[in-house]
Amino acid sequence: MTLKIYNTLTRMKEDFKSIEPGKVTMYACGPTVYDYIHIGNSRMVIFFDVVRRYLEYVGYEVSFVVNFTDVDDKLIRKANEMGSSVQELADKYIQAYHEDTKGLRVGKALNPRVTENIPEIVAFVSGLIHKDVAYESGGDVYFRTESFEKYGQISHKNLEDLQHGIRVEVDGRKKSPQDFVLWKKAKSGEINWSSPWGKGRPGWHIECSAMAAKYLGETIDIHGGGEDLQFPHHECEAAQSESLHGKPLAHYWMHNAFLNIENEKMSKSMGNGLTIRQLLKENRGEWLRFVILSTHYRNPLNYNGESLHQAEAGVERLNNSFANLRYRLQTLEQVNAAQETGNLPDLGQNEAAEVKQAVEQALAHFNRSMSEDFNTPDAITAMFDLAAAANRYMQVDKAAADSLKALIAAFEQMDAVLQLLYTEEAESVDEEVDRLIEERQEARRTKNWSRADEIREFLINLGIIVEDTPQGIRWRRK
Ligand code: AMP
Ligand code: ZN
Repeated sequence: MTLKIYNTLTRMKEDFKSIEPGKVTMYACGPTVYDYIHIGNSRMVIFFDVVRRYLEYVGYEVSFVVNFTDVDDKLIRKANEMGSSVQELADKYIQAYHEDTKGLRVGKALNPRVTENIPEIVAFVSGLIHKDVAYESGGDVYFRTESFEKYGQISHKNLEDLQHGIRVEVDGRKKSPQDFVLWKKAKSGEINWSSPWGKGRPGWHIECSAMAAKYLGETIDIHGGGEDLQFPHHECEAAQSESLHGKPLAHYWMHNAFLNIENEKMSKSMGNGLTIRQLLKENRGEWLRFVILSTHYRNPLNYNGESLHQAEAGVERLNNSFANLRYRLQTLEQVNAAQETGNLPDLGQNEAAEVKQAVEQALAHFNRSMSEDFNTPDAITAMFDLAAAANRYMQVDKAAADSLKALIAAFEQMDAVLQLLYTEEAESVDEEVDRLIEERQEARRTKNWSRADEIREFLINLGIIVEDTPQGIRWRRK
């Protein structure tokens, strides 16, 4: 199935074709690390994690970069307020980013920092000056925006419109108001690096051009970020990179729409910048993933107090079904081992064929949805269809191991992309239940009835039903 991606550049869904067969290079603009990431940032982080996972699912080897902006005005200001260095502040929030995104089941990406790439940035800026598309002015360096004809290609604005929108600069160092800064002269006491233009630090846009080239190549497959970055950030990145390398920065530009809280735009000053750290104290990361992925990434997402509760119910439903499948398979294998027959119970051919068909349909639905510009809400529906088929099947008295395994495998395949199943916890809960059941049997052997009853009660509260069968003790979830 061909993967289709909506390309902001052409405003069309296009068939995805990677530069190198079997490989994808992808860069997403990451957070400015002066604070904890908030729920808005998490939309971008979770969505591009899913893109990376789906590309891997269909067989690509993916090189994925999410940068950290670890020096800018906000970092400098906050570090001053806190009496710490910019680096200490950035270190703290980078560590927090890793902890928070792990809680959101976000997987691997390379996370380069601006401050570790200053020589590459300086070389990039020098290259642009050499090509006469940038100029030094009073210790700053600016990009000559008019030199890049395609400026406006991503945000679909033209330079004239943009000029109207730009107020006349107070600072007279720019030759033209829409020129943007590549290198900023250091103010006194500010963190700085030496450069051919004196002490200073990189402007915002140049970091991504330099790091994308260094870690992924001069032209990459996919460049992503939130839609707020289309202009000016991505326009500037595209202009810098193409001016230096003579080829486009990226073939596909992808932008996620914004997440709003109670229909209001998120902002820290409005006090609605709910952090992931706060949210994960009382909620599971999988629930937030569900919230984010239940809306297509190009539609605005309105978050409210109810969103997580609804997500919790949905995620629990999927997990119950998955846990029950695993439990049925586990007990089936135990029973077989006890009987030492090694044979699996017989099951009607019809039921097995039904399961096979349901699994194939759900997987095809999942793949069709994801390959249609990452339609995650539909992909979640496919997982629910799978859960419904599994629940139907588990009504039968004697489930067949092959069918249970096929259902479990399909769940796991989808979850390699969506990450909504509590696999690790399910395992540890299973182990704990096994241990308690063993303790209960021991209590019964030693006629310690009160302890045996106590454990039984406890398990009932957990929703576990314990049954004495001729083959020994079995348990299942309600
Ligand atoms: P920032 O730290 O503000 O530079 O943002 C880091 C990333 O999160 C960028 O890709 C932004 O576009 C994205 N982002 C920030 N706020 C939101 C939001 N409310 N909804 C969706 N994406 C956002
Ligand atoms: Zn960027």
